[in-house]
Amino acid sequence: MAHDPMLPAGSRYCLCRGCGLYFGGDSAFRAHRAEGRCRSPEELTSLGYRLNGRGYWGQDYKRPKRPKVALPDNSYDDPEDDL
Ligand SMILES: [Zn+2]
Repeated sequence: MAHDPMLPAGSRYCLCRGCGLYFGGDSAFRAHRAEGRCRSPEELTSLGYRLNGRGYWGQDYKRPKRPKVALPDNSYDDPEDDL
């Protein structure tokens, strides 16, 4: 197998031989495999993965769409107390 400059020796990067995408780690690689097929880049994006500037797919660390849920200060009180 020819040496792939995208996969330096000893790195954790992965190349999928099925679809030719590169992944920044094993977990991202496994996430893109579903029922014996490869997920498309569109599916990966919807799952929270993104292609980084170096050409590897990985989990998106920034989560800009995280919903902000405001909890009241007494949210840990047992709700049964008020019934
Ligand atoms: Zn694949």
